[in-house]
Amino acid sequence: MNAPATAPAVTPAADEAPAGPRPYSQYVYAYPHKTAYRRLDPRPALRDLWAGEPKDALSLYLHIPFCEVRCGFCNLFTRIGAPEGLTGAYLDALDRQATAVREALGDEPVRFATAAFGGGTPTFLTAAELERLCDIAERRTGADLRAVPLSVEASPATATADRLAVLAERGATRLSLGVQSFVDSEARAAVRPQRRADVEAALGRIREARIPVLNIDLIYGIDGQTERTWRESLDAALAWHPEEIYLYPLYVRPLTGLGRLGADADAAWDRQRLALYRLGRDHLRERGYEQRSMRMFRRADAPATGDEDYACQTDGMIGLGCGARSYTRALHYSFDYAVDMREIRAIVDDWTTRPAEDFGYAEYGRAIDADEARRRHLLQSMLQADGMDRADYRARFGAGPEEHFPGELARFAARGWLDASAPAAGLLRLSEEGLAHSDALGPELFSPAVRAAMAAYDLK
Ligand code: SF4
Repeated sequence: MNAPATAPAVTPAADEAPAGPRPYSQYVYAYPHKTAYRRLDPRPALRDLWAGEPKDALSLYLHIPFCEVRCGFCNLFTRIGAPEGLTGAYLDALDRQATAVREALGDEPVRFATAAFGGGTPTFLTAAELERLCDIAERRTGADLRAVPLSVEASPATATADRLAVLAERGATRLSLGVQSFVDSEARAAVRPQRRADVEAALGRIREARIPVLNIDLIYGIDGQTERTWRESLDAALAWHPEEIYLYPLYVRPLTGLGRLGADADAAWDRQRLALYRLGRDHLRERGYEQRSMRMFRRADAPATGDEDYACQTDGMIGLGCGARSYTRALHYSFDYAVDMREIRAIVDDWTTRPAEDFGYAEYGRAIDADEARRRHLLQSMLQADGMDRADYRARFGAGPEEHFPGELARFAARGWLDASAPAAGLLRLSEEGLAHSDALGPELFSPAVRAAMAAYDLK
């Protein structure tokens, strides 16, 4: 996957901490985090978990846990390279799993509203293997990939013409390229060695493939990065007129390459990241991009993607592959999780040799009760620039957000993180500063139980 993932960032020594909450605590891209999942004993059968669940607007996610290199900032569930035969065996297992999961969904009609291939790097697979991946999605789960938004992540080296042709022909509507920096020395500093010339060539191939939405991921806060070099990367990305640009703050996380190098987070680094965030935000806005969240910017004149009606707060997700999560209303589940390369290899190997009957059960997960559902809804809505519709929240949970989260919302208001004009429009919305502090605000909405489970998780 291009997107840097999440785990608690390194905590600075107390005397280095800036006044107020640190702006970079954790990227909340899914709640609860996988480190709050636990082995489920006994394993619930998927048939029981999905009985009675709405199945008319599911999202489908296929996870490919292979990359050519391990980027220094990455703690995603992915391994470097694959020995001969492993990707084929992985697709065999994915086929078995997809068949078992579709059976577990029962006889009623199932409709997928969105689809995504993530990782890892899905384009680590060859063109022929990508054809097979699409066949598995369509024939086993019944998803109509050409009729729904289909997002695929790629790296510059693997965004080859033959792979892109397959993806375009099979219905990919969005190609997300993990560039991180157009400055070669910064790419090296983030332990992602690549040459700008190769990145530019990959972008040319992607545009030639005519996939409607191009997303470029960039990172700020890299060692040696300055306002000048950051602007250079932003302008290099803008030259391709991408429909979307994601700006990610760099994190240093336990067990990742940068973590092992002993890099540390400190107040000066927080200041650097905040300054680069503001520069990047303003730079893109001045050039016709709308800010959709702290990280996401969309070209104002870009065509609609087709997934505007999909409600990530309420709709279920079918995740296939050994690092994918699945969501029902009552349970989020996945398989075992690790960050360390040896552990990941062992989990992938184990998953790949599983018999079909093993795929009919959920093995690791976390129950979602009413309180967790409210927190998740709040997190997924409030961290968007458009904010949360108060009437929707009340209709779903029977009361307003202030009644459920009086302490948190009063604290956010006192820090100037809430847009005081939003309630008149029926919204709960972050201010500019609130959006800039999304990675501090989000973790404050975690439940005590999830916080405790994450703290107790033995990272491996
Ligand atoms: S390319 Fe692979 S290692 Fe690099 S950030 Fe994406 S998932 Fe992580």
